[in-house]
Amino acid sequence: MSSNHPKKKVALFGSTGSIGTQALEVIKSNPDIFEVEILTAHTNEELLIKQALEFKPNAVVIVDENKYETLKSALSSTDIKVFCGEAALEEVADFDTYDIMIAAIVGFAGLKPTLKGVEKGKIIALANKETLVVAGDIVMQKAIEHKSPIIPVDSEHSAIFQCLIGEGRNPIERIILTASGGPFLGKKPNFLVNVKRDHALQHPNWSMGAKISIDSATLMNKGLEMIEAKWLFNLNYNQIEVVIHSQSVIHSMVQFEDGSIKAQMGYPDMKLPIQYALGFPQRLKNDFPRFNFKKYPSLTFEEPDLRTFRNLGLAIEAMQKGGNAPCVLNAANEIAVWAFLKNRIGFLDITAVVEKTLENISFISKPSLSEYYESDGEARNFAASLIKL
Ligand code: NAD
Ligand code: MG
Repeated sequence: MSSNHPKKKVALFGSTGSIGTQALEVIKSNPDIFEVEILTAHTNEELLIKQALEFKPNAVVIVDENKYETLKSALSSTDIKVFCGEAALEEVADFDTYDIMIAAIVGFAGLKPTLKGVEKGKIIALANKETLVVAGDIVMQKAIEHKSPIIPVDSEHSAIFQCLIGEGRNPIERIILTASGGPFLGKKPNFLVNVKRDHALQHPNWSMGAKISIDSATLMNKGLEMIEAKWLFNLNYNQIEVVIHSQSVIHSMVQFEDGSIKAQMGYPDMKLPIQYALGFPQRLKNDFPRFNFKKYPSLTFEEPDLRTFRNLGLAIEAMQKGGNAPCVLNAANEIAVWAFLKNRIGFLDITAVVEKTLENISFISKPSLSEYYESDGEARNFAASLIKL
């Protein structure tokens, strides 16, 4: 793109996280194409200050109100607008001044600002899969109504999105989501019962935020991604298959009605799907290392072990059940993962908390948005009561 095109203005929600910081690297490498309009963070004011001074956005938000004064005074010599509190996320998402929202907040907290971006008809580069897990029907319906394109950042969904380019008239027969299997691939419950947070955080192929790293270790991440795929690509649950592919080179695949399969491949590096979503429909030139097939003489594929990694089975059941079940699953999982990260519960207890919460919260088959919020709250309270938080 030549430099006389207007730059795309980016609102980066969750700028201090793993996706957020990598998105800023992509933006920094393409200064003629992108500029930063909004940055938001939860509590890390130090990094947010650094980012704001470097990228000079129009506005920044820190959710933690205790950090407001520090942030405000650090930016006092600039004309950057400084906001704080949870409601400010929706307030800045409502600005007219940006073109693309990168939804990179982790968890349910990302839902409200992302929905606001959708209602504004913005382009959404979606990393926050929980938004679709919790309220995928409502989010996708609003995206159609407000003509808001949702471009996946999650690597598997980016792969499927890329495989579908030029296939508009060809129905999908099934999609095959690849999963690395996480750090405990091949392990059994007698091993998992003793694993600790630091081991679970060591992902073999990807470096990611804490929550998604634990979700990858329990395979809940793949369950959340099945639900995400269902909504993004308008699929039935029986069209979505998961295969363990521990090299993480094939990022996912689509099979069409003639049996032909398209795959998207490359080294595992989140900057690729991030930059694809930001540049879409253009592919931006970069100098990332190029994939070398000769260094990967074998790519392997195997069935996921649903008996050991029961979270994946629970997510599949919740997807099949529909209604508020995925929302409840997600809320219970967020609480359980948080408790595991604080060394309050064991690795296998994560599944027990999710399972008991799903059994306990009343089922709603076609929830309204406020019923999703209520289900989320109820599920969180119930899950917390199991853990005795
Ligand atoms: P992270 O924990 O590294 O970063 C999360 C970001 O969200 C931070 O900027 C943090 O300040 C902000 N945040 C956290 N809680 C918040 C709250 N309550 N309110 C407002 N902001 C809050 O997480 P991440 O790994 O970057 O993941 C972000 C999202 O992207 C997740 O939904 C994850 O599933 C998805 N994703 C991540 C990766 C990856 O490689 N990291 C890959 C695919 C999808
Ligand atoms: Mg993924």
